[in-house]
Amino acid sequence: MRLVLLGPPGAGKGTQAVVLSEKLKIPHISTGDILREAVRASSDIGKKAKSYMDKGELVPDNIVTQIVVERLAKDDALKGFILDGYPRTKSQAESLSSALGLRGIKIDRALYLKTSVSTIIARLSGRRICSKCNAIYHTKNSPPKKAGVCDKCASGLYQRDDDKEGPIEKRLEVYNKTEGEVVNFYKDEGILKEFSGDMDVQELYRSLIIAFKEEALL
Ligand SMILES: [Zn+2]
Repeated sequence: MRLVLLGPPGAGKGTQAVVLSEKLKIPHISTGDILREAVRASSDIGKKAKSYMDKGELVPDNIVTQIVVERLAKDDALKGFILDGYPRTKSQAESLSSALGLRGIKIDRALYLKTSVSTIIARLSGRRICSKCNAIYHTKNSPPKKAGVCDKCASGLYQRDDDKEGPIEKRLEVYNKTEGEVVNFYKDEGILKEFSGDMDVQELYRSLIIAFKEEALL
């Protein structure tokens, strides 16, 4: 199954992607992670991406798309994948569609997690990330056993600068500009399924699984 997860930052895309990835046995591909990885590995495309990031600019669509498409062509993604953080614009959705089309495949479902602003702020401001293994915690909803320390690898946790309250509002503004066009793109394709991102992790996961079963995707 080839899935795209849509929704604002804080909708729970990353968390759902992790559990769905285990359930469906397909990789969770987070654009943020693969972009950072390409930059770390200093590949040609990674260097190009970095030159924009260093200037505080958005990495252009064609570069992000190339990085995503290269990742999707790897062996582990042949049977399916869960894309998280991409596409963010209609133009990216179109590029993705044509790149997959060249390989004779397409996105099966776009899962849109529609989420209220109050939920988003509560979730993002409490989010803490492991500095080593990228495991995600929440100070209230899923705290680590020992405050500030990763349960999995015992490394320190940190709060991303853009998860602080001021930057969150800025991110939502940026996100809101293009949310509609991406949602509409997949609606027009007839593959959009909408869920409430305000549900808690378990509840939302159950709704997703029920929806897959109803459509005989599972
Ligand atoms: Zn860790």
